[in-house]
Amino acid sequence: MILAIASGKGGAGKTTVAASLVSVWDTPCAAVDLDVEEPNLHLFLRPSLAARTAVPLRVPVVDATRCTRCGACAALCRFKAVALLGQTLMVFPEMCHGCGGCFAVCPEQALLEGQRELGVLEEGRVADLEQQSGQPRPFFMGRLRVGEAMSPPLMRAVKRRLREVLDRPDATGTEDHAGMDAIIDGPPGVSCPAMQAVMDSDAVLLVAESTPFGVHDFALALEAFRPMGKPIGVVINRVGLGDDSVRSLCEEKGLPILAEIPHDRAIAEHYAKGGRVSELSESHAALFRTLRDGIRSRLVPASAGGRHVCV
Ligand code: SF4
Ligand code: SF4
Repeated sequence: MILAIASGKGGAGKTTVAASLVSVWDTPCAAVDLDVEEPNLHLFLRPSLAARTAVPLRVPVVDATRCTRCGACAALCRFKAVALLGQTLMVFPEMCHGCGGCFAVCPEQALLEGQRELGVLEEGRVADLEQQSGQPRPFFMGRLRVGEAMSPPLMRAVKRRLREVLDRPDATGTEDHAGMDAIIDGPPGVSCPAMQAVMDSDAVLLVAESTPFGVHDFALALEAFRPMGKPIGVVINRVGLGDDSVRSLCEEKGLPILAEIPHDRAIAEHYAKGGRVSELSESHAALFRTLRDGIRSRLVPASAGGRHVCV
């Protein structure tokens, strides 16, 4: 199963839940940080990062000796990354979305392939959890280059690498990954990156808090993610803050509340020091084990058969 953890607003507790769920997962499980603009899951899982791969975007470079200035590429590019100014064809690589359209329409094959670095894919292993559980815990993270605006292509590169590992038992050359699950910590909100994180998952876990902003953004997240038709479960975080609005909305929409995390200074202090909430006490560990079991029993679609469905 690929589980995407999402939230309508930042700071709702996605990473808290992701790190603790990975900690209590008792079968093979990959941890994936797809919040590439601001990845922080590694701060709580503390993986040993062994590989770092630059992820480029293919952008056009004009071969002036072949270009006839016909303007077909500029007319096609909806992002205005290619423009014909008089008799000069200009390319603005920072505005290119890498769709490849201009390459396809150029009648002279006058566009060569250049590259713009989007960021890096980092991968490694969460050694302490592997020792504790006796199960593989590979870790994947995208990190967007500072100043880069386009995160979805980097997210897709991270997901391709995850798919390789899930699909090919020997993808890391060290062990059998057959039947491995994946827990994705996605970006907050409902914009393109958030949709990109959720779209290939088997199930979605929405983390919400019952404050006025929290309820508003939770409702937006429901509007965005429910049409995808994936099973959705809810974790209410900081229970005790705000009111019962998230619970009421879940009842109205028929959504299962799989865990409630109390608004507790001890949790905040532990988290602020980089601790996993599931390791704060036995009762906190039990809370996340119950969440894990709830995910398995309430969110795994029949088609997944309890195993991952690759994207
Ligand atoms: S690859 Fe797509 S976005 Fe980039 S310049 Fe060409 S048409 Fe525009
Ligand atoms: S489509 Fe090709 S030939 Fe026409 S302006 Fe663009 S690069 Fe030049």
